[in-house]
Amino acid sequence: MPIPVTSPLLPPLEEFLPYLQKIWSSRTLTNGGDMHRELEQAMARYLGVKHLALMANGTLALVTALQALRITGEVITTPYSFVATAHSLLWNGIKPVFVDVDPVTLNLDPSRIEAAITPQTTAIMPVHCYGNPCDTRAIERIADTYNLKVIYDAAHAFGVEDAGGSVLRHGDLSVLSFHATKVFNTFEGGAIVCPDERTYRRIGHLKNFGFVDETTVVAPGINGKMSEVNAAFGLLQLRYIDRALERRQQIDALYRQRLQGIRGLRFMPPRGGQARANHAYFPVLVDAEFPLDRDGLYQHMRRRGILVRRYFYPLISDFPMYRGLASADPALLPMAREAAQKVLCLPIFPDLKDTGVEAVCAAIGEVRAEAHVA
Ligand SMILES: *Cc1c(COP(=O)(O)O)cnc(C)c1O
Repeated sequence: MPIPVTSPLLPPLEEFLPYLQKIWSSRTLTNGGDMHRELEQAMARYLGVKHLALMANGTLALVTALQALRITGEVITTPYSFVATAHSLLWNGIKPVFVDVDPVTLNLDPSRIEAAITPQTTAIMPVHCYGNPCDTRAIERIADTYNLKVIYDAAHAFGVEDAGGSVLRHGDLSVLSFHATKVFNTFEGGAIVCPDERTYRRIGHLKNFGFVDETTVVAPGINGKMSEVNAAFGLLQLRYIDRALERRQQIDALYRQRLQGIRGLRFMPPRGGQARANHAYFPVLVDAEFPLDRDGLYQHMRRRGILVRRYFYPLISDFPMYRGLASADPALLPMAREAAQKVLCLPIFPDLKDTGVEAVCAAIGEVRAEAHVA
């Protein structure tokens, strides 16, 4: 049986049936029904944030967040992310400006942001990559100095806290994804976290075609609503998320213990500024001292049925719709480029057993043994 890189958190099916019965008897399937309202409240409480607008998915949440703040012109962002981060800018007619990442956190490097600011710059869109918090203080200082908005792509950061509380409190808005592959899923889904009621209401209009009431349309909004079935599933997931995060933490610790001391394998810092981590991913960086290069290890693992993934390779700035931008020049993004060439994400998900982790580590160990023989 192959071991996937991730597998969705799925509570027992019979526990979902009562939620479906409620939906059937209400005959409300979407457009902000009871499940939608309950999940917004329960999740805001769980995450420790003021307001949270549920969305159909994370990508529409990013697109809508930019609309909510009327962002135009140029936005500074990271090339080391899932492609939807930059796509949300193109969907708004905004020019992405790529800035290199910090070699340790693999998040946007604040010391390189100022040089990329032009008169057209209106915002910064950083990503809390792998759930490791960005340098939010440095980013805030720059945003305040240049009067820029900050929208965090927090698709990886569900439940993550720094010393002051939820990382989702930083910036003007934060965007979550509840896609099946994420730490918390509603099959498909997402949310925009916002600090004030006014922005929450504006997002409510934007995700419903711009409707304010039956006859008033105030913006070219989109259909970005979460359905009642997805919201109901989210309510059930909330009852299991703490257990899931705890298991992820154990797997993370087991990997670090079993793989420590292997020459040429590097890990992310165990606590990259988090008071509470979510262990969304387990990336390793394959350095030159390892007997195989990253792609060699990737092939080796896949031959053994361990379906490791190269998140994030290629860089967003290498895709055809971005590579012509001046800021996509590889010479300007050496750290992101190096990470994209060295990174491999190992399997981590709540149902992964210790024996699965041992199998992954044994497959990596084989490479070293073979290298010694050769
Ligand atoms: C998953 C992801 C998204 C997109 O979220 P969807 O819910 O799949 O649309 C955006 N940004 C990052 C960093 C992601 O990992």
